[in-house]
Formats: sequence, structure tokens, C-alpha cells
Amino acid sequence: MALRFFNTLSRSVQDFVPLQPDAKRAGLYCCGPTVHDFAHIGNFRTFVFTDLVRRCLEFKGYAVRHVMNITDVEDKIIQRVAETKASLREYTAKYEAAFFEDFQALGCLRPHETPRATDCIADIISLIGKLMERGMAYRATDGSVYFSIEKYQARGGRYGQLLKLNFEEMRPGQRVSSDEYAKEAVADFALWKARVPADGPVFWPSPWGEGRPGWHIECSAMSMKLLGPSFDLHMGGEDLIFPHHEDEIAQSEGAGLQAPRQPFVKYWLHGAHLLAEGKKMSKSLGNYFTVRDLLAKGFTGREIRYLLLTAHYRETFNFTLEGLQGARTALGRLDECLGKLREAAAGATAPPDESLLQQFTAALDDDFNVSAAWGAIFEWVRNNNRLAVSGGMRPEQAAAGLAAWQKIVSVLGLVPIESAGIPPPCLALLEQRETARKAKDFKRADALRDQLKSEGWIIEDTPKGARLKRF
Ligand SMILES: [Zn+2]
Repeated sequence: MALRFFNTLSRSVQDFVPLQPDAKRAGLYCCGPTVHDFAHIGNFRTFVFTDLVRRCLEFKGYAVRHVMNITDVEDKIIQRVAETKASLREYTAKYEAAFFEDFQALGCLRPHETPRATDCIADIISLIGKLMERGMAYRATDGSVYFSIEKYQARGGRYGQLLKLNFEEMRPGQRVSSDEYAKEAVADFALWKARVPADGPVFWPSPWGEGRPGWHIECSAMSMKLLGPSFDLHMGGEDLIFPHHEDEIAQSEGAGLQAPRQPFVKYWLHGAHLLAEGKKMSKSLGNYFTVRDLLAKGFTGREIRYLLLTAHYRETFNFTLEGLQGARTALGRLDECLGKLREAAAGATAPPDESLLQQFTAALDDDFNVSAAWGAIFEWVRNNNRLAVSGGMRPEQAAAGLAAWQKIVSVLGLVPIESAGIPPPCLALLEQRETARKAKDFKRADALRDQLKSEGWIIEDTPKGARLKRF
């Protein structure tokens, strides 16, 4: 079955057919973090979902090129730079590093490219230049450059592809900020913001005077630079649909770089909002969680990831600390079952259990239906537990289950961080050593320890259990 999901562009669930179907390649862009502070759990819902989509595509045999930008220049950053007296790069480097630590703690695969806006100023200026040449942009009296929606539409551009817009409702005052008084029409948006005193040292030269790029143009410039003028998938949180993504389409298609009848992006995928403890996250309500807050409370990245992956991406999800406790219990059941399977397999190998794999892939193919996927996994856990109790688990059967699980876990990305990169046979040996120790069979436990050592791994006993470390 083909992978299908909800394309915001067509407002319907569609089969995924990449722009180059024969090549089995997929270009994926996701709007990345603004590095002005630690990212919160709502931001990470989008990144974990994007990681799931990438892993699903890779599992289905696509060579995915995953790009995520780093927004390292915008109003809040400039304000903080002025307050802290740090340089822009000094200030953002701290939050960028923290972001990737959290990203990794949640088991997200690092995108192939993570361009920073400030490293792509030349590409941004060149794209604005193309829009100026084509008459889609204008320099206003304040020195800023704006995109003209009217001129874009006059030349056949379609504004409102992602969201049906009512221009009548866009009254002046609602959308016009004080620094954008010079633009010709209310809906026009800044491509290049002229330097103002409050920008301090944060500005770059351009053909239109000193200033800095607008946020929307960053994503158009960076995505097209790294994925080409037309690419397969663009992702982000639903709050970015308008104006950010709509404006990205206008700029990118307005520059006219696509081949005839090719869109900027074929599929737009948006993840829904996240509530925390039933409410919109807010620092004053005490329900504002960063990943590091949750790690400090003793939860693991794997538990957080699991919880985020239990809800369908198009549903608003209520993230709670109670939910994290539930995640811990569920993962405990799963890990216990995997331990029993490793014991029962006793080193046997077998091809993956196709029935489990089929149920799992069918669920994810159906608009990333994670509930059905978890349903199949926990049904399998229950069956395994029944067999283990009755003593009816054959080694080949256990090995087939483990082989299927290896594939499933490559998509879900729920590998414990401490076991990441450790070959499954070594994990099985560790498991057997633990069992031997519990049974007070120290001779066997020592023999297994020596066997692991000969494979290049030493055992580290920690309060959380035994771990393997490279020797
Ligand atoms: Zn973006």
C-alpha cells in the first residue's frame, strides 16, 4: 500500500508520489527553531513528527534529503543581543547547541542540512533581487523591501493556496506593525527590513541599503538552495500555515524558478497544536515545559518521544506529566517483553515476523495512524507474554519477533539512548547476563561478561541497570 497523508495544499488525504517517482528520492524541508531561547515541548512535537515522517519514508526505501533551517536573526534575538551585549553568534550559539542536545535526547535524526539564516544572506539577497526584477517586490519609503501580493496576483500568482483568505477581513491595524507603515497594501510583507537604530550591530549591506532579511524569505531561499526550486514535502506546525507558509509559496513561485506547471512544494504537512496540562502553555501558568525541564524531573527523552508519538499529528494533543508516567509504564511493558524474547531466542536468528510488520506499516501508511500502530504492537506484546508464561515460545518465533521489532523501532526511533549504536546480539548477551545474575548463576554471568568484552564492550552497572560501553 502507498503511503498517504493529509496534504494541506489539496485539503485532502493523498497518496505520496514524489516529484521524481522513479528515483525514489524525497526532498523534505521543515521550518526549524528560532534560537532565542530553549525550545518548548510544543515545538518538539513538530520535530518528532517530522522525524517520524522521515524515518517512514526511509523505511519505505526513499533516499530522503532532510533540511531544517535555524532562524538566528529576528526581533526577539536582536532585543536579547542588545540586552546581553553578546554578539549575535555568541548569543544564538548557546541556544542552537541546546536545541540539538534536546533534539538528540528525543531520538531525532539530525537533518542532512541545518543552514543558519545568517550564513545564507547572499542567497536571500539574490532571491529578493529576482523578485525585484520580476516586479513582484518594491522598496518602500522606509527603505524596506516588500512583496507585493497585488503584483504577484496580477501575474497569475495564487495567494491563499493553503488557506482560503478573505482580504476584506485583513483590516489595517490588525496586521500592520508600526515598523511597516510604508508598505503599499496591508497584506504585503517584508522581504528585507531596513536597518533601524534598535538593530544595533545586527545588519548586512544589500542593494537596497543596510538591513536584515524578513523571516519568510529565509525559508524560501534556504529550501530552494538545498532542495531545488520544486521539492516534495514541506512540514511545520499548523501555526505556520498563515502567513509564513503562504508567503513562502508566494515568494518562491513569484521568483519563477520552477519548471512550467511545477509547484514550489508538492505536499504540505502540518502538525497540530499541543496543550500542556489541558491549557495553552504559558510560563505564568506553570505548564511551560522545555525538554530539559522534563529531563530534570527524571523523565527520559525516550519517554517524552513515546508520549508525543501516541497522538495523531492532526489532533490537538494534551501533554501531561501523568501522561509521561503512563509512557514509562508502557515502555516498561514493552522492554520486559523484548527481554523475554531475547532470552527465548537464545541467539537464534529468523526473518522478521511479517504479520506484525504488515499491521504496523499499514497503520502508518494510513495518514500516520499511530494509534493503530501502537494497537498492533501492544497486541503482539500481550501474545508474547501469554506464550512466555505457557512456555510455548519457540526460539525462531522469538527471533522473528525481535527481527520485526528492529525494523519497527527504526521507524519509531525509540531506541534507548544508551543502547544506540550497540549491535542487537550484544544487547541480547547483556540481557542474558542480567538474567544469570538475577538467578545467582555468577559463573555464567561472568562468562557472558567476558564474551561481551571480547566483542569490544564493557558492562557498566548503574542505578538504572546495566549498560554497555565501548571498550
Ligand atoms: Zn519556515
